[in-house]
Amino acid sequence: MTMENGEDCCVRVVVHIRPLIGDERLQGCKDCVTVVPGKPQVQIGTHSFTFDHVYGSTGSPSSAMFEECIAPLVDGLFQGYNATVLAYGQTGSGKTYTMGTSCRDGSQTGLIPQVVNTLFSKIETLKHQAEFQLHVSFIEILKEEVRDLLDPAFVRKVDAGNGQVGKVTVIGKPPVQIREASNGVITLAGTTEIDVSSQKEMASCLEQGSLNRATGSTNMNNQSSRSHAIFTITLEQMRKLDPIITADGGPIEDVTEDFLCAKFHLVDLAGSERAKRTCSDGLRFKEGVHINRGLLALGNVISALGDEKKRKGAHVPYRDSKLTRLLQDSLGGNSRTVMIACISPADINAEETLNTLKYANRAR
Ligand code: ADP
Ligand code: MG
Repeated sequence: MTMENGEDCCVRVVVHIRPLIGDERLQGCKDCVTVVPGKPQVQIGTHSFTFDHVYGSTGSPSSAMFEECIAPLVDGLFQGYNATVLAYGQTGSGKTYTMGTSCRDGSQTGLIPQVVNTLFSKIETLKHQAEFQLHVSFIEILKEEVRDLLDPAFVRKVDAGNGQVGKVTVIGKPPVQIREASNGVITLAGTTEIDVSSQKEMASCLEQGSLNRATGSTNMNNQSSRSHAIFTITLEQMRKLDPIITADGGPIEDVTEDFLCAKFHLVDLAGSERAKRTCSDGLRFKEGVHINRGLLALGNVISALGDEKKRKGAHVPYRDSKLTRLLQDSLGGNSRTVMIACISPADINAEETLNTLKYANRAR
């Protein structure tokens, strides 16, 4: 991201502190997180952390986060830069609320609705200079498996045994495969990509996918989601370059065109609480382990990207999880990344909040 000093910085880390919610108030929880006035600095107990920005209950509203951190990424898309926004934090910390990936809280305050808004108004102002096409996909990663949240029928064509497609049966979603082209572009074979031409269509993709998103009950919160949900907007543009007028001022020759394509991944990560806190049964525990694999790999990738800036050619371990593999062409390099560490201010969550702040701090 260019921003203040015009230097390309690959990852920006911000903290979003939600207010105490009903349940916490009922339990008489105390606020244990302090923001140092005028500084992007958070204190919890004896620990103090500084980030790029801190948005909290006492600070600026979420539209400030959008303006300062996310809107520049939308602008970048129009210049061909991929972008990724990641919401990290324990279950209940406000990831889904912040991203706007919920059918429940599907208000206009989440970041995705604001991205969609901004995208369409920008397209409106630029439509004379270029032709635009938008696609949307929405997938989730659960237990290291990628699933298509926009697959309308969950239908798969079955091989009749002779190499020909026999009948069509409903047997669950086909597995999605992550592929890397020789130019480094990552594609998801087998996902539904929906062409959208209006804000309403994009909102309905978001809603449909959110409804399909797997949720399961754990001890922490029965609305908790153990999957990473990735809403991806692809912007293609065919720029109409200045028309070439022939020497005699005659008719315009072939109009030269310029093609650009960029992706914006908006990621609502799985809850970061450790598997042992969700205990319940063997199955859940395994899911917990897998979730941690994605989050662990993500932490390592982002941390390696920071190191890469200091010493060129550091190994970035993208291949350690499906999550990082899928985001590979949109983290680091020329792409812009914002990690939002979501935290609860309640004292009962202090331990997880501290873990989240440590994880986020490592990403800087
Ligand atoms: P997560 O996705 O991290 O599990 P949610 O986004 O579902 O967490 O948030 C947990 C609860 O807190 C929800 O009831 C949500 O409405 C509420 N909440 C989260 N962030 C805020 C906020 N900034 N302001 C008010 N309520 C919030
Ligand atoms: Mg959630």
